[in-house]
Amino acid sequence: MQIKLQKSLCPHGQEYYKKICSVFGNSILDESKNINRRKFAGIIFSDIEKKQKLDSITLEYVVPKIKEIAENKRKNKDVVIDAPLLFESNLDKYCDVTVSVVADKDKCIERIIKRDKITEEEAKSRINSQRSQNFFKINCNYSINNEDGEDIEKQIKEIFLSKENLSNESVIHLYSQGIEYLQFRRLLEYGDKIEHCFTLKDLDFNINYKSDNGESKSNIKNVLNDYKKICDVLKIDYKNVYKPIQTHSKNIKIIKDEKQGLYLPEFENVDGLITDKRNKILSLSFADCTPLYFYDAKKNIIANIHSGWKGTYQEIAREAVKKLKEEFNVNPENLICAIGPCIKKCCFEVSHDVMTMFYEKFKNICERENIIQESKSTDKYYIDTTLINKIILKEEGLKEENIIDSKICTNCNSNKIHSYRKDKEFSGRNTAIITLI
Ligand SMILES: [Zn+2]
Repeated sequence: MQIKLQKSLCPHGQEYYKKICSVFGNSILDESKNINRRKFAGIIFSDIEKKQKLDSITLEYVVPKIKEIAENKRKNKDVVIDAPLLFESNLDKYCDVTVSVVADKDKCIERIIKRDKITEEEAKSRINSQRSQNFFKINCNYSINNEDGEDIEKQIKEIFLSKENLSNESVIHLYSQGIEYLQFRRLLEYGDKIEHCFTLKDLDFNINYKSDNGESKSNIKNVLNDYKKICDVLKIDYKNVYKPIQTHSKNIKIIKDEKQGLYLPEFENVDGLITDKRNKILSLSFADCTPLYFYDAKKNIIANIHSGWKGTYQEIAREAVKKLKEEFNVNPENLICAIGPCIKKCCFEVSHDVMTMFYEKFKNICERENIIQESKSTDKYYIDTTLINKIILKEEGLKEENIIDSKICTNCNSNKIHSYRKDKEFSGRNTAIITLI
């Protein structure tokens, strides 16, 4: 694949400037009859209608150019276009892939003050007139957080050339401060209320690891360090993490005023956390088991559930919804459940015994849904635990459109995600995090 970078398509030229003057008047010109960019920016960014007017003039020039590039590219090379008004102009449909390059709001303000020599107030109104970071995360295929000094062009090319990007219609694969992680597009819609993520293989949340000579060692220092890294990226305080001692149970604990921390005795034998309190970071660790993120936007309540095959068998998803209904009077129709990456039916091979256990328990479901599949070549079976969770959630009253499947199999993507099936006792752990902010 060959890639050519098309620099910004912001139009220049006399005709374009003439048009702008005819709409906004000559008062925007300086003494040498050039547009006074600072004055003009002051007008545009303080009045949304005027900004829209400018955008529509700009698009008249940019749209034909992008269409031309898009049509020609198949004859030549793949082209990367830098187009800030891509979504406003509906031109995104001409692109095979969209990548957003975002930065923290404060950093953006700092940068444009320096670059354009404007006041803080001017910079703020300019930034506030633009789409939010989350808008781009929800709508683009990929997203890069532009930290100072990083080579964006190089990073974009790497994403295009990499076959390891896990973005799909449900999740976006993000790159920030050298760390990769996933977020659900649907949960990003509530980015002013919650923060969440699923970490990938560059971080490890397994406190016990096996050294090369088979010795079991504590990894708590590294785990703490990795919590700090991911929490810094998400702009939340790692000191607020609650991480229970998971045992594949169906026990779910509601967090009220308990002290936070990792692997605390009062959080032993706990595989799910619920809270309606802000700044309590619910974190569970996974290697093939199913993470279930719950959010009720009406009541602003979150839950984080560890549903491995044993948890799924014990119907921990049902337990979670019941607890939310009983303790918080949640209406399940308002509940969103995002099902994180886990081992999918393609790879979850089980013996006859486990298959029989599942068949006996979910007999009714098995008769109408394709949950258990017999292997064609071996005497093994494949079980669809994601489908079981989806059915349980629907039985408990969740709407189909509020159940979001990441569609990512951890074993199939074990180059990017820790997978127990792949690495056995040497496997690390991913973490699912959700918090009210
Ligand atoms: Zn798989």
